[in-house]
Amino acid sequence: MGCQTNEELEEIISQVRPITAKGKVADYIPALLNVDATDISAAIFHLDRSEGQCTFAGNYKQVFTLQSISKVLVLALALQDHGYEYVFNKVGMEPTGDPFNSIIKLETSSHSRPLNPMINAGALAVTSMIKGNNAEEKWGRINQFIGSLLDGKSVTYDQEVARSEFETTDLNRALSYFMKQHQVIETDVEELIDVYTRQCALEMNCLDLARIGAVFAQNGKDPLTGGIIIKDEIARICKTFMVTCGMYNASGEFAIKVGIPAKSGVSGGILGVVQGKYGIGIFSPALDERGNSIAGLEILKILANRYHFSIF
Ligand code: GLU
Repeated sequence: MGCQTNEELEEIISQVRPITAKGKVADYIPALLNVDATDISAAIFHLDRSEGQCTFAGNYKQVFTLQSISKVLVLALALQDHGYEYVFNKVGMEPTGDPFNSIIKLETSSHSRPLNPMINAGALAVTSMIKGNNAEEKWGRINQFIGSLLDGKSVTYDQEVARSEFETTDLNRALSYFMKQHQVIETDVEELIDVYTRQCALEMNCLDLARIGAVFAQNGKDPLTGGIIIKDEIARICKTFMVTCGMYNASGEFAIKVGIPAKSGVSGGILGVVQGKYGIGIFSPALDERGNSIAGLEILKILANRYHFSIF
């Protein structure tokens, strides 16, 4: 598969770069601060082409950690492991206007069930469901599954970012212990935090992320071989969560301004899916006040307007 530069994307990147000065790199995980705040890279995987399917612009080789983007991928694996009933018995399906790491609704929601799998509480519950006898086995399965979305590539995680989050993530521990008390989580919490922080620290570049987007854009099929990686029903559920809760508490505004399934992470990555057409991967670490990549959002708005991306 050949990858080539995309001049239009390159121009859009130059146009939006000044906006990075208005954003702020996430600092609550100390190791995330080690980045260039003005960095931007973007890639598109084109399903409508037989040649030159992958195009890129900007600092495209730069790897970044997936952070919350991993939530949608691990949800797909949990659904494959356990099926719909089991997963949604423990985690809800409703969006929330609260911040991603909010603890407030856990106590008041029915059976202390987290509202959805895209907020931290829900994602922690989902990761706790991954089959395996210990952290290594669970991690191995997550790793292999995510590699399968990338043509079997072996994926790695940033050990410094994982350790930095493991050592400081008391809020995620608190959410997890609360859910364990209420039987939403049934596994050892420290082991869960170990797997979760590794999953969040999975590293890729924008080309990898665009390829993963293309798998979802093809309803779970490998964009090159057509082999089924994720069942279409599961891909559909994941994309629906991306629309309703993928962009934190800016998901409603994003649905109006861009209108595609997307998931962002506090590292500044955004995974975008244009059904049947493109997978999109963007990285730019300066974030707006709601935790989305400020340049990434701008790039998607420009593309969406120009090419009528919206599904609505
Ligand atoms: N590892 C981060 C956390 O759990 C992920 C958050 C995010 O990207 O939204 O706090």
